Amino acid sequence: MLIDTHCHLDAVEFLPDRETVIERAGRAGVGAIVIPAVERANFGAVAHLAASFAGGYYALGIHPIAVPDAEDEDLEFLEQSVEAALDDDRFIGIGEIGLDFFVPELKQPAMREKQERYFSTQLQLARRFDLPVIVHVRRSQDEVLKYLRRQPDVLGIAHAFNGSFQQAQQYIDQGFKLGFGGAMTYDRALQIRRLAERLPLESIVLETDAPDMPPAWLGKPGGPRPRNEPAHVGRIAGELARLRGVEVDEIIAATGRNAHQILPRLSVRHVGLS
Ligand SMILES: [Zn+2]
Repeated sequence: MLIDTHCHLDAVEFLPDRETVIERAGRAGVGAIVIPAVERANFGAVAHLAASFAGGYYALGIHPIAVPDAEDEDLEFLEQSVEAALDDDRFIGIGEIGLDFFVPELKQPAMREKQERYFSTQLQLARRFDLPVIVHVRRSQDEVLKYLRRQPDVLGIAHAFNGSFQQAQQYIDQGFKLGFGGAMTYDRALQIRRLAERLPLESIVLETDAPDMPPAWLGKPGGPRPRNEPAHVGRIAGELARLRGVEVDEIIAATGRNAHQILPRLSVRHVGLS
């Protein structure tokens, strides 16, 4: 099954035509869309949105980019929200969490420390409730791995993977799947394309990260930034098939299986977006 394992469908970019976007994804064969939260303020929105269509799922977590404005009581609120969501079959795990040492504001020592504390606390939460995590990793591959090794029972997805082969292997050894999406569709993205071509297929899941990470076919260099949407995950599967020299059906079946394996709460009850 074609699954978009990472889509910010609640983003303001989708305000004018969200229902049409979901319909287009359904017509493109997308069977499930996972909507990660980014901050306390959108926990309700992602849960509500996921429940509004068959095939909608959500995760709850505090994104590293939201950490500067987050307060410790947000972590308590997250814990309560997760506990309450355990009965909700649209809820699939903890995310989006992680470490971002790319954004200048987030690189300052005090903010690095706060990010690491939030990441570590949320990993502990995942372990306590036996839930997978959706992890944002930017300029922080080794630091994220360090924290994952401290919680070896916690599995999940390293989303928008952009590391080395050695780092990829370390995530795989940790039991993680690696998310591939729009970045893989650019001819100049040599390293990501090599990874997509050569990593074991059983370690790969597909994602759009919409509205971000527009695939190459939307891009107009220098023009306004195009909006990505979940329907594109089908063509992303096609691109991965082309890179690996296999049929797209094989990619769709394998990445769907992988997503179900790593996100066990993705139930079979809500197959299809219609
Ligand atoms: Zn994201």
